[in-house]
Amino acid sequence: MSKIKIAELFYSIQGEGRYMGVPSVFLRTFGCNFSCRGFGMSRGELSTEADDIATVAFHFNKYEELPLVSTGCDSYASWHPEFKDLSPMLTTDAIADRIMEILPNNEWQDEHLVITGGEPLLGWQRAYPDLLDHPEMAGLKEITFETNGTQQLTPEFREYLHDWVGNGFDNEITFSVSAKLPASGEKWEDAIKPEIVCTYEEVGTAYLKLVVATEEDIKDAERAVEQFRKAGFEGHIYLMPVGGVESVYTLNARSVALAAMKRGWRYSDRLQVPLFKNEWGT
Ligand code: SF4
Repeated sequence: MSKIKIAELFYSIQGEGRYMGVPSVFLRTFGCNFSCRGFGMSRGELSTEADDIATVAFHFNKYEELPLVSTGCDSYASWHPEFKDLSPMLTTDAIADRIMEILPNNEWQDEHLVITGGEPLLGWQRAYPDLLDHPEMAGLKEITFETNGTQQLTPEFREYLHDWVGNGFDNEITFSVSAKLPASGEKWEDAIKPEIVCTYEEVGTAYLKLVVATEEDIKDAERAVEQFRKAGFEGHIYLMPVGGVESVYTLNARSVALAAMKRGWRYSDRLQVPLFKNEWGT
């Protein structure tokens, strides 16, 4: 039986993108190929918040005890090696059982499953079929992978997803691709991978969700969209304000919405910030 290292597993409202407002189970896998220390920082500077917390990691026994950050990756504990012990390796049986426990009626109704991270399309692709084929997952109709769009689907997983969509009348796969612009602190050539994201469109709906806070970020977003379109990407484009604490977020939301409108793009809120203050498990 397959196992997945799970950083968080919780039930909440999807706060971002296409399924904003939909009740959702969030499966946050451990591990990421990026660290995105640039969010919320001046261009060229990198946040040390996660690393500073990591120096006292021994103080924290569970996720809910970890401090929230206002700069860098807001889910740092899902990839930072110092927090790996907070993420248990669970069998797909145990994960399916836990999902049944947290669903309101202990069965799938209108809820959707969000597989997020970290970066959920790293090695765990080999384990998802075991989970999705579990009898307790039979009522599930909609899945979103929240990915940074740098990981190829393996041929086996691509085929599996293709069949999963074909096997159910209403089954839908979505790739919410948060391609990392330079404001994240990651390098353009490592982060902007249109040729990979185009392959996601062969098995489901894919859209770009670009996080911006400044005019410079919006210029980067335009450049990225141009590259994606040139490669044949057909999905929608969302602009989303930078995350972190509410004070940072509210400064950005209106100008980001106006920038999206001006270009005929979509705006994505981060409902988890005003609703739940971006706490762990939301
Ligand atoms: S890709 Fe996402 S999870 Fe990974 S470091 Fe960046 S923001 Fe965090």
